[in-house]
Amino acid sequence: MDFDSADLKSCIRTLREIDFELAYLALLTCEGLKPLSRWEKPLDDQQLRLLQQLGLLTKQIRRTVKTGKEVVETIFSRLPAYIQLYERRFANTPIDKSAETQRFEGFLFGYPACCVDQYIRKPYTPNNIPPEEQKMLFHWACKDCKITPVLLPAYKRLHDFLNNY
Ligand SMILES: [Zn+2]
Repeated sequence: MDFDSADLKSCIRTLREIDFELAYLALLTCEGLKPLSRWEKPLDDQQLRLLQQLGLLTKQIRRTVKTGKEVVETIFSRLPAYIQLYERRFANTPIDKSAETQRFEGFLFGYPACCVDQYIRKPYTPNNIPPEEQKMLFHWACKDCKITPVLLPAYKRLHDFLNNY
């Protein structure tokens, strides 16, 4: 995707001012490196519009936590089917961290299945990814991962791009 137009630039800058991570997730999702992303902090209508201006579909999903309290998640994607898959599976459900949920989320969020499986077995097993690169990822790379090193340059490019915008 070409982020050079003046409109998109101001949109990305504003998102970055709100939260660097939100802007980074938005770019990764625009580029398709992540089919779908989830933002767990509240977003107002103006902030949702910024994501939409980047060409992303957004949806707010109601969930509950253990205490019964309701939380609102924002999901965004370029792909209507992924928004629907998430909504059908998770809308109005309690937040859970079961292996099944982690596998499905991993699929939606673009995490390598090898890393998700390893994380379910033993989270944060030491890997060979340099810490400053691991920080650019939203999944924990598995030991000797064959996929993450292929993904990393694309993640790093967007991360650097956003830092220097
Ligand atoms: Zn892996």
